[in-house]
Amino acid sequence: MQFSISTKKKIELIDITGQVEYAVERSGARAGVCTVYAPHATAAIVINEFEPNLQKDFEKVFEAIVPRADYMHDHIDNNASAHLLSGLFGCSRTIPVEEGKLALGTWQRIIFCEFDGPRSLRNVIVTVIKSQ
Ligand code: ZN
Repeated sequence: MQFSISTKKKIELIDITGQVEYAVERSGARAGVCTVYAPHATAAIVINEFEPNLQKDFEKVFEAIVPRADYMHDHIDNNASAHLLSGLFGCSRTIPVEEGKLALGTWQRIIFCEFDGPRSLRNVIVTVIKSQ
């Protein structure tokens, strides 16, 4: 299953847990694994608490781990930092499915990280592999 989102800022965190839960529900899986994958070179998927101050902290860390520099890719399309962050955080996550639901902890949410927005069409592919 696939769904699309649009982003409004250069760097933006978007909670996509609801859409992924819906895909798991529709799959009818009672147990198995769910992969959440973004087919993009300048975005990432992370699992963490979705809290406004923490979102700002994440933005601080993005800047700290990929500081401004004369990156060679910037000479092509000026978005090297977005590619580097995507590469570091990764564009997919795997979550166990138990009793028909994602086995997320109380504070865990699935978060789409935009590093090169705004974009009108960002895709997320959810694959559910049933073991039961
Ligand atoms: Zn690029």
